[in-house]
Amino acid sequence: MQHGIVTRAIGGYFRVMLDDGRVVVESRPRGRLRKDGVAVLVGDRVDVAVQPDGRGVIEHVHPRRTQLVRPPIANVDQAVVVMALADPPPNYGLLDRLLISAAAADITPLLCWNKADLVSQDEADEAAGPYKAAGYKVIVTSAKSATGLASLRRALQGRVSTFAGPSGVGKSALLNRLHPGWKRETGAVSRKLGRGRHTTRAAELLALPEGGFVADTPGFSTLDVRNIPAARLSRYWPELDRLAHQCRFPGCRHRAEPDCAVRRAVDEGGVHPRRYQHYLDLLDEIEQWEARRYS
Ligand code: GDP
Ligand code: ZN
Repeated sequence: MQHGIVTRAIGGYFRVMLDDGRVVVESRPRGRLRKDGVAVLVGDRVDVAVQPDGRGVIEHVHPRRTQLVRPPIANVDQAVVVMALADPPPNYGLLDRLLISAAAADITPLLCWNKADLVSQDEADEAAGPYKAAGYKVIVTSAKSATGLASLRRALQGRVSTFAGPSGVGKSALLNRLHPGWKRETGAVSRKLGRGRHTTRAAELLALPEGGFVADTPGFSTLDVRNIPAARLSRYWPELDRLAHQCRFPGCRHRAEPDCAVRRAVDEGGVHPRRYQHYLDLLDEIEQWEARRYS
C-alpha cells in the first residue's frame, strides 16, 4: 500500500501522486468506499494499492484538514491572495475579505501584490506596508518582469496552495510562470469542452518542481465570511487579535466599548484605519445577519 495525494479527477477515476513522486494515472476507490458514500476529492490524502497493470485502488481516504467548496479541493494549506498594484486598482475591501475568509477556513493567507512593474517602489511599499505590519506574509511580484517569483516559489514549497483574487490581477500569468506546462494543459481541455458552455472542469493540483502543489483553477469564495460569529470576528484580523487581551472587556468588539486597546491603537497609528474600518463594516454586516437569522 502506498500513500499519496489525489491531483486530478476525471470521470470517476483519480490521478494520484505517490509520496515517492510516481504517478498512478487511473485509480478507483474500492467498492466498499463507494458503497459507504465516501467521496474522493482532489487534494485528498489516500492509501492506494497499485495493481500489476499499473492502475490503483484507493483503499482509504484520510480525514481532511480543510475543504474548499468552489472549486472543491481538500487539504489546501495556503491561499495566495493576489491583488494588482495597478490595472485594475486595488480593491482593499475585497482583499480584506479574502484574507479573513482564508483565516476563518483555517487556511494561511499569503498576500501577493502583482504588477510591480507598473508602479514605483514607493507605491509598492505603501500597498504592502500595512499588511506586513499586520503580520501577513507579503510578496511583491511582477509576472511580466519576473520580480519576486523566487520568493513566491519558496512560499509555495511543500504546501498545497490555491490562488484567489479578482479577475485581471495576473493569477493566470503567475501560474504560467510557476508551471509553464499549465496553459497548454488547461488550454487543451477548454478547447475540447468548447467555449461558452458552462462546463466546470474539476480543479487539478499541479505538482511544482520544488515540491508542493498549486491548484490550476483560481477560486476562493468570500461568501463564508458571514458564517463567522460576530463575537469571534476580530480573531481573524491578526493585528486586532494581538491587542484584544488588553481591552477592558473580554468580549470587546472594539467598536464603542470603553478602554478598548484596538481603538487606542487606531488613534495612535498602530492599526491601519482602513483595516479597522473594514473590520467595523464586516462586524455590522455580520451582526445584522445574525439578528435576522436568530429572530
Ligand atoms: P487573472 O484574471 O487574474 O488570471 O489575470 P491574467 O493573468 O489573465 O492577467 C490579466 C492581464 O494582466 C493580462 O493582460 C496580463 O498579461 C496582465 N498581467 C499579468 N501580470 C502582469 C504583471 O505583473 N505586469 C503587467 N504589466 N501586466 C500583467
Ligand atoms: Zn477592544
